[in-house]
Amino acid sequence: MNAIAAVLRRAEQVHDLSRDELVFLLADHEYDREIFAAADRVRRKYVGDEVHLRGLIEFSNICRRNCFYCGLRAGNRGLGRYRLTPEEIIGLAQKGWEYGYKTVVLQSGEDEYYSVEKMCHIIKNIKRLGPVIALSIGEKTYAEYEAYKEAGAERYLIRIETTEKKLYEDLDPGMSHEKRKRCLNDLKKLGYEVGSGSLVGLPGQTIESLADDILYFREIGADMIGIGPFIPHEDTPLKAAKGGDFRLSLKVMALTRLLVPHINIPATTAMETLHRDGRAIALQSGANVVMPNITEGEYRKLYALYPGKACVDDTPGRCRECITAKIEGIGRTVV
Ligand code: SAH
Ligand code: SF4
Repeated sequence: MNAIAAVLRRAEQVHDLSRDELVFLLADHEYDREIFAAADRVRRKYVGDEVHLRGLIEFSNICRRNCFYCGLRAGNRGLGRYRLTPEEIIGLAQKGWEYGYKTVVLQSGEDEYYSVEKMCHIIKNIKRLGPVIALSIGEKTYAEYEAYKEAGAERYLIRIETTEKKLYEDLDPGMSHEKRKRCLNDLKKLGYEVGSGSLVGLPGQTIESLADDILYFREIGADMIGIGPFIPHEDTPLKAAKGGDFRLSLKVMALTRLLVPHINIPATTAMETLHRDGRAIALQSGANVVMPNITEGEYRKLYALYPGKACVDDTPGRCRECITAKIEGIGRTVV
């Protein structure tokens, strides 16, 4: 057996790879097929054939931050902004529950309109309907995270974006990498199931840095890790950047499955944006979660983190049917 086959076998069986081995596998393309197939087997062994659906509600595209890569950044003056009322958000969650989504994810820019009181009102009223609530609303204080938890939120998604401190701070002006990590620690301390993840293909990001991201995911004990390509947005300072590569993003995701076998990994919408079968391919390369959008109408278009976002012209009902067909089409089942 050649040396690489032995390395891949160790990754599959004991979930161990050194930083140098990760760098080699990320840089080389000869073993990609084997890596994707191994990640698919590990996914099946640890989390089974069922695909978990989480209904995503994008409730406000207003953001006080200025992340260079993101279309919702405060500095993007050309974007029509919206925010849903608490009652509209609760209404969408109710529809999501009726569509059969057991978890709803409430995501937004960092919009200060939603005070702790408003958020807790929203969380309590959705909780009463039945679903598990995941939040993805950015950096907050310990006390705020605690209040949301007490109101009934159980999961929180906050990507580290990149584990490279300098790159993070260059691309997220005014934000601190230490603070981002503090948020993740606070959330864990409070007993949330925490989701994190990163962008692949940021300008200046190296293969070594992607290897560090994967090792970091193993270290933090997250429940979910979402990995997606960075897709340049016209109205941001990174408009001329090259952007992330589908295959490399898929490989970071597959290697994450090999090293952290028991976690949930979403097949991200950004993957579907770069490749028409992106999510199905991701589900066959280590992923086991999909987050269909249940936001309605024009808001789907206005929640423009990046351009060309898949499915913006669909309705929530059509999304549900389409994704179910895709999942069943690859021989998997929807939970
Ligand atoms: N404001 C919150 C949640 C919304 S942003 C937060 O930042 O945590 C959700 C995710 O969108 C971010 O974590 C980032 O990884 C992703 N994102 C932003 N701009 C993107 C782009 N241009 N391409 C791909 N993903 C992007
Ligand atoms: Fe705001 Fe999140 Fe976009 Fe940063 S990534 S600008 S915090 S919505």
